[in-house]
Amino acid sequence: MDGSKLHVAILASPGMGHLIPVMLLANRLATQHGVKVTVLVVTTAFSPPESHLLKLPTEKNLVERIELPPVDISHLIKPDTAVVEQLCMMLREAMPGVRSTISALNHRPDALIVDHFGTEALPIAAEFNMAKYVYVPTAAWFAALTIYCPVLDKEVEGQYVDQQDLLKIPGCKPIRPEDVVDPMLDRNDQQYYEYVSMGNRIPQFDGILLNTWEDLESTTLKAFKENEIWRSIVKIPVHPIGPLRRPVQPDGSKSAVIEWLDKQPNDSVVFVSFGSGGMLSAQQITELAFGLEMSEQKFIWVVRPPTEGAADDAFFTSKTVGSDGTPYYLPEGFSTRTGNLGRVVSMWAQQVEILNHPSVGGFMTHCGWNSTLESICSGVPMIAWPLYAEQRLNATYLVEELGISVRPLVLPTKNVVARDEIEKMVRSLMDDEEGKKMRENVKKLKIRAENALCEGGSSHHSLSEMLKHVAAKLKV
Ligand code: UDP
Repeated sequence: MDGSKLHVAILASPGMGHLIPVMLLANRLATQHGVKVTVLVVTTAFSPPESHLLKLPTEKNLVERIELPPVDISHLIKPDTAVVEQLCMMLREAMPGVRSTISALNHRPDALIVDHFGTEALPIAAEFNMAKYVYVPTAAWFAALTIYCPVLDKEVEGQYVDQQDLLKIPGCKPIRPEDVVDPMLDRNDQQYYEYVSMGNRIPQFDGILLNTWEDLESTTLKAFKENEIWRSIVKIPVHPIGPLRRPVQPDGSKSAVIEWLDKQPNDSVVFVSFGSGGMLSAQQITELAFGLEMSEQKFIWVVRPPTEGAADDAFFTSKTVGSDGTPYYLPEGFSTRTGNLGRVVSMWAQQVEILNHPSVGGFMTHCGWNSTLESICSGVPMIAWPLYAEQRLNATYLVEELGISVRPLVLPTKNVVARDEIEKMVRSLMDDEEGKKMRENVKKLKIRAENALCEGGSSHHSLSEMLKHVAAKLKV
């Protein structure tokens, strides 16, 4: 209870993948460290799962949630405005609301934590004399690339993706040009400028929080601390405080999928899901359907209509083929042929509960960082199928550094992954020695993750240190 007199405000950017880690940090600060937390949420139209997440009870009433005045960026965006750019715009537009909301709080927060899209709140923190922290809720390797991007911007000529050599980041695993994050794919796009500015602003905070832990990314974390180039760029403490991930919800009524899982042998089911927004092309969905069927392994697949169709087709029409209820975008008769093998769930599933079920032995994932941590913390090895954002980096790390994933030979963002390759990957993960080894590796990592979070563990200690810095600043 090292921060029991502190009050911390956290600014959350919109989207499940951003909101989840912020809510987890808020709960952790409140329950483990006795901090009063106010979460400032940028108001957009929340999806049903987001609304559910925001309604979840937070322990001890130490977390208060305030919705900021709504922002409207419709006059600023064009049809091709990238997601990162839209997020930066929303946060920029939200700043007057952040300022007025903080100013109206009875108990002024001692510190402001923003995620990496909210770094423009820096002057607001200074204005109210609050300690200021940036929470990059993903991997340290991603944070290193983001913060080093302004240097690469000066050193590298031409597009990053066209480079012949690996991109070198001091003390870190070098980055393959095709693995760079989405905003770096085109240096002429506005989102690239937003990304470089973000990289410039992060080191101006009082500290950086990362949703990772010492054992997971020791090389990068050591580079931040010890490498001379890094020490000249990042003069502030870097706090690995993870893995913060959603806990299993206490047993309510069991969904049909969980009841089905209860009847399957341990480690026998592969869970297939591509995050809160991941969608595949019609051709890729067909290949995946046949690949799963050919693998003869048990599966749960969260399916969405193909990218070519309207995203809500499946909700509002009863377009199905055959009489077995197979969604129109899956091969005809798929549900009948795979009825004994698997279950198809439309749009959204209870991912954490599924991954934690003893029958689940593999996860085909888009490698979003929340999904990655949830898989590691459930001791489940992965098939890494990156789609967007920083997921190519995550996939490479899971395969090459941690030995807990297989991945397709082609990049799913560039090529269609063929059914026979999918069959091979699923079999090797679920049925081969290679998969067994990965399962052993990830189960060891799971234990190390639990240790990091325990009182006295590296991540618990690191968050306590951050709170001590905030408290010390108050006394100055
Ligand atoms: N999620 C879920 N059910 C689904 C799809 C996603 O519960 O059917 C949750 C998942 O458990 C994770 C989050 O949504 O906590 C997705 O975050 P992630 O960082 O993995 O990817 P993003 O959606 O941001 O790309």
